[in-house]
Amino acid sequence: MKAAYRERTIMPRILVVEDEPDIALGLQEDLTKHGNVVEIVRDGDAAVRRGTGEPWDVILLDIMLPCRDGFEVCKPLRSAGVQTPIIMLTARSHEAEKILGLEDGADDYVTKPFSPAELRARIRAVMRRSAPAPASGIFRFGDCEVDLDRAEIRRAGRPIDATALEFRLLSAFVQARGRVLSRDRIIEQVWGANTYITDRVVDTHILHLRKKIEPEPAAPRFLLSVRGIGYRFDA
Ligand code: CA
Repeated sequence: MKAAYRERTIMPRILVVEDEPDIALGLQEDLTKHGNVVEIVRDGDAAVRRGTGEPWDVILLDIMLPCRDGFEVCKPLRSAGVQTPIIMLTARSHEAEKILGLEDGADDYVTKPFSPAELRARIRAVMRRSAPAPASGIFRFGDCEVDLDRAEIRRAGRPIDATALEFRLLSAFVQARGRVLSRDRIIEQVWGANTYITDRVVDTHILHLRKKIEPEPAAPRFLLSVRGIGYRFDA
């Protein structure tokens, strides 16, 4: 994962999902000229296939597409654990509201017609935001401290008895704080990709962790359930 990221930052790889040839080619020309590697796909099914098939730095996603629309592309990508920033290309302003309302979908949107320079600025911004947070330092919430360097969780200044897995779980939440993590994404980050862990196992570990860090485990303040999706850490 780390090697892939390093490789990708040399020349950003952008997947353009757009069925209008003029727009697609214009984007390809401009983005290639500015040092990106660009691949174009023209329908929703191909977008899901290519989006999950390889690591991308950014996905530009049109909404009105053959086969399935941009929203129906976003959802399966996210539930497959793809964390690549997605910028939606929208033709209408009412679509923008829908994009911003997405719980775990797009990162940004631009309204057509857009200027290439504006789009490139947006691309740089989402790439900056998605750069992995440094896995270092001490994070505090309530009377707890998560010490990422010493791999230790402390409560009221004293190390608590947490398993390595619980530490990884809490670190993942701390680093993604404020964002909803789906159970699939939690499994990928904590147990590793291609591990066969059921949602129940995730829930059980969350319960254990809550008992160790929450002032009132039955009414959690930090490690919150998000119904039908997963969990969110709120500090
Ligand atoms: Ca279109």
